[in-house]
Amino acid sequence: MLFECIQVSIELYILGSSSATPTKDRHPSAQVLKIGSEKILIDCGEGTQSQLMKFGIKQANLNTICISHLHGDHYFGLIGLLSTMSLYGRTQAMTIIGPPMLKDIIDIQLTASGMALNFELIHIETTMDKHHTVYQTAAFSIQSFPLQHRIHCTGFLIQESPKERHLNTAAIEHYQIPVAAYKAIKAGQDYNSPDGQTIPNAVLTTAAASPCSYAYCSDTIFDPQIVPFIKGAHTLYHEATYTNEHADRAELYYHSTAEGAATIAQMAEVKQLIIGHYSSRYGQLDGLLKEAAAVFSPVVLAIEGKTYTIG
Ligand SMILES: [Zn+2]
Ligand SMILES: [Zn+2]
Repeated sequence: MLFECIQVSIELYILGSSSATPTKDRHPSAQVLKIGSEKILIDCGEGTQSQLMKFGIKQANLNTICISHLHGDHYFGLIGLLSTMSLYGRTQAMTIIGPPMLKDIIDIQLTASGMALNFELIHIETTMDKHHTVYQTAAFSIQSFPLQHRIHCTGFLIQESPKERHLNTAAIEHYQIPVAAYKAIKAGQDYNSPDGQTIPNAVLTTAAASPCSYAYCSDTIFDPQIVPFIKGAHTLYHEATYTNEHADRAELYYHSTAEGAATIAQMAEVKQLIIGHYSSRYGQLDGLLKEAAAVFSPVVLAIEGKTYTIG
């Protein structure tokens, strides 16, 4: 699906779509968001490095990893991936955004195996007490926000950086603006001419397309409190572990139903919904899709190996 905010391409690759246990066709949670040339790995369930290879996703420009929580289906692939990166000669630092205990776990695994990574791990801790920006680069920002699950768990909102305003060429010519001033004008500044006249930025430019954003919510009980954090996101990925038939299990294990995921999408007024994190009890996923589609459209299933264009 394509949206109007295209400045750089933003694509989502699904590597894992299963919940707690894998099935013969489905792996635990992992996905890659590609913004321009940068890649962000979101969760890293068992088998993630094999899935990257299988789907031809190179590790170049993969410098950021977000881990939602420390249930094994969301990070048991991490130490394997980091080890392989080191064995292949990676030297560039890796930023890992995740729960406080994550760095200790990685350190003890490395110590026990007598291994040292060839690159620096920069650990940014997520917190359960606030919604805030945890990381920012020139290309994107990452916000984390608390999810209601059985342990420390956060969602992520990844947003491309705001774009420069567009020059209004007719106005630029009319006021004979020198090329040297374009950069500041595109950044939003007014123009002060040598004769002391101020030309407002609104006259000289038109607004840039709004930045695209991707919200990732896994794992969580149905929780309308997250809506303000993901309001208006272009794409929402929301876990849909169960259908309504198993709503009691969803509540018991702090997971969501497909209907719950779709209700959150509707409340947050997102442009599209992707559901995933399916219970292994469902061989066919049609029931989950149908249940979500009755509440919100457009909605699609997260299918491993499939690429989703976000912007
Ligand atoms: Zn999970
Ligand atoms: Zn979990």
